Amino acid sequence: MYVVQIASECAPVIKAGGLGDVVYGLSRELEIRGHSVEIILPKYDCMRYDHIWGLHEAYRDLTVPWYGGAIRCCVYCGWVHGRLCFFIEPQSEDNFFNRGCYYGALDDHMRFAFFSKAALEFLLRTNKRPDVIHCHDWQTGLVPVLLYEIYQYHGMGNQRVCYTIHNFKHQGIAGANVLEATGLNNPPYYFEYDRMRDNFNPFALNFMKGGIVYSNFVTTVSPHHAWEAHYGEFGYGLGHTLHLHQHKFGGVLNGIDYDVWNPEIDHYIPYPYSADAIEDKLRNKKALRERLWLAHSEKPLICYIGRLDEQKGVHLVHHAIYYALHRNAQFVLLGTATEPGLNSWFWHEKQFLNSNPDVHLELSFNEELSHLIYAGADMIVVPSNYEPCGLTQMIGLKYGTVPIVRGVGGLVNTVFDRDYDQTHPPEERNGYVFYQTDSQAIESAMDRAIGLWQYYPKEFRKLVLQGMAYDYSWNHPGADYLQIYEYIRHK
Ligand code: ADP
Repeated sequence: MYVVQIASECAPVIKAGGLGDVVYGLSRELEIRGHSVEIILPKYDCMRYDHIWGLHEAYRDLTVPWYGGAIRCCVYCGWVHGRLCFFIEPQSEDNFFNRGCYYGALDDHMRFAFFSKAALEFLLRTNKRPDVIHCHDWQTGLVPVLLYEIYQYHGMGNQRVCYTIHNFKHQGIAGANVLEATGLNNPPYYFEYDRMRDNFNPFALNFMKGGIVYSNFVTTVSPHHAWEAHYGEFGYGLGHTLHLHQHKFGGVLNGIDYDVWNPEIDHYIPYPYSADAIEDKLRNKKALRERLWLAHSEKPLICYIGRLDEQKGVHLVHHAIYYALHRNAQFVLLGTATEPGLNSWFWHEKQFLNSNPDVHLELSFNEELSHLIYAGADMIVVPSNYEPCGLTQMIGLKYGTVPIVRGVGGLVNTVFDRDYDQTHPPEERNGYVFYQTDSQAIESAMDRAIGLWQYYPKEFRKLVLQGMAYDYSWNHPGADYLQIYEYIRHK
């Protein structure tokens, strides 16, 4: 099969979050399975050019219709760790992708409307006719709209679209001018509620809604989050639209890249280990303690790795630090806060706890240290308020670090409570789950985990090994996406 991914990120060359990892990881898996994959991306000025091999001009004169005129683009081609990528560079005064950042400009909706249009124009002009176009998040929500309303009449009538939503919170809100710019025109038609009119703001168009309405299949990044978005509050206003299109909506769990996240071959950890030699994990714990100046003692070590913000349940993260100390455990935190208030709160805590030999707060982004923490810690807390998929619990499992998570989104699909899970037999359970957002809830889950570590070490070790036995690679999601592609191709 021939698949083209159209996206605003692809790790490691352009990465702001999980989206980049998915675009890269899924493409790699599809290629391993013998399919042909190409990725179309914006050519940002600030992307990591050092991760692109053989970048060269592939198509010099791509003329993209825009506001009745046109913008000339140059399309570059290069390989990102083996994946074939095309980068679109518009040559206009708008400087759409020369902003020193990926997102956050006032005209983001115009930047990505243009990118969506340019990507389709590129396919059209170069006679590329993929079986499936896979696009992602609000930035490329207009791709299926443009394909169905314009490009199918120019010879692209056989292309099918799979649309994946990684984050319902950002939906791409725009006014009627985007219709004029992209050549869709006809505002009354697109402002219908069953097309692109925002469900709550009658004066706005919603790109993500367009993506849902016009795609052949829509996915989000875990089955439980698909349910939450459809029936609960996490669809952020799109629940009704998902309901109307439920026959083509589902959840596919993200995978993680076991070439990067694997304690057997991890170059960042001093003592590689596997389930057969789990004792070596203890040597990494010692190395972690030495690196962070923590005391060497008979205590369990609990960690948190991730952004410090409301989505991640930052108040519970904070509570977990003090509860761990209270329960005679150690705590390591690696994270960055984007919001100034939360940032100063955690810097204050860091200073306050500075001389405590049982805790370390590292307030930075440090990929290398994160590997050592996953390897050295006994448990990892993930108390998110909402979590479409979540990677840290899956990485923790691979490294034999028992996850203690709140039962939301993808966490529900990946962590099964040792004591209370109803869906898995005891020998398949792998962590601890709590549900409420109050401090007692996380305390009771941490209590059970710490108690097992302290009083039943053999049982704890069993739990560790059960977690390591799980396969959260791209193997299963790759097969799931292929099934979806086959389904929409023959529909
Ligand atoms: P998000 O919602 O931020 O995408 P995920 O759990 O899906 O959360 O992915 C987070 C990824 O980022 C994980 O690979 C995690 O190890 C990494 N990460 C988060 N914060 C940091 C940090 N401060 N330093 C290093 N890696 C981090």
